[in-house]
Amino acid sequence: MRSVVVCGVGVVALVSLGIFATFLPGSHSEPGSSSQLSNVAAGHAALPAPAPAAPQAVAALAAAGRAQLGPAPESGATKAASPPAAKVVAGPPCQTPGALGVARVVEIDTTGGPGFGFQHFKAYDFLNPGEVVLTFDDGPWPINTPAVLAALAAQCAKATFFAIGKHAVWHPEILRQVAAAGHTIGSHTWSHVDLVKKSPAEAKDEIEKGVSAVRAALAAPYAPFFRFPELRHPPEMMTYLESRNIAMFSTDIDSFDFRIKNSDQIVTSVMGKLKKDGKGIILMHDFQRATAQALPELLSELKANGYKIVQLTAKSSIETLPEYDAMMSQEIKGGTANARPTASVVRTVSEGN
Ligand SMILES: [Zn+2]
Repeated sequence: MRSVVVCGVGVVALVSLGIFATFLPGSHSEPGSSSQLSNVAAGHAALPAPAPAAPQAVAALAAAGRAQLGPAPESGATKAASPPAAKVVAGPPCQTPGALGVARVVEIDTTGGPGFGFQHFKAYDFLNPGEVVLTFDDGPWPINTPAVLAALAAQCAKATFFAIGKHAVWHPEILRQVAAAGHTIGSHTWSHVDLVKKSPAEAKDEIEKGVSAVRAALAAPYAPFFRFPELRHPPEMMTYLESRNIAMFSTDIDSFDFRIKNSDQIVTSVMGKLKKDGKGIILMHDFQRATAQALPELLSELKANGYKIVQLTAKSSIETLPEYDAMMSQEIKGGTANARPTASVVRTVSEGN
């Protein structure tokens, strides 16, 4: 078991910095659990959304004002360059009285590509009864992703967003808003194809293009977290992700929001499943309008029923592959990232004859 020393501020210590080292008190204590997951902070019900203009390099790791990790490895860096254990510092308190907040922040050591979510992975049971992890797939997308961010901000809650590479390069400014708000970001392939139907080489391209596209769109490091499209897990690609030290996320509670497409029914469905299971990683889609519309009510219901939000963070940043970074920087150049308004780049200096 490795030793993790963490600085954090608890609920009762908002005015004074407390230092504690904690391993996850999971209800099952597999030997591997404590080496893959550690509790990095608790009592963050009081975290506000940070200013959206936070520097991008800082945003992905520390935008919440509560997580300041060591220097992240740049693309292609070796594992030896990975930062040490996360140091968590408290941010200013949440401005919303009675908000849902974040009860606990866990840090995942993605070495060896651990899997989470009991639909497919049963090794790491890290949630306590009543704890939920909010996850959103398929963004970033106009209107819906910002609406999800607004709902989360209103409750000072944090989530994990698994972005599609193409969507990230189409809407990098929205993905950066997600990072700036202190949420955790992972990837979800380049174009959301079913990898089971692809050759290993094609599937690897889909994964790596997505990984690098999200990095290019964010212009900042992010978590080595991945979710397979449609939760379809080709064994070769699971082995591949293990070799890449990228954690895989399935789900405990699938909202099926993309099928339901009705905000009231989404709330009823999720709360019903949660009541049955008592805890879990919830899969939703910030791409879906009904989900964005459902979220304020869903978060209120979670609060009213005493559920606690757990935020996932990563011990180290993702290590992109240089050849795919090069490919994706071309994609970004062809898109909107870093683009200035046309009028500031091209102006008419002479007209007519
Ligand atoms: Zn998806």
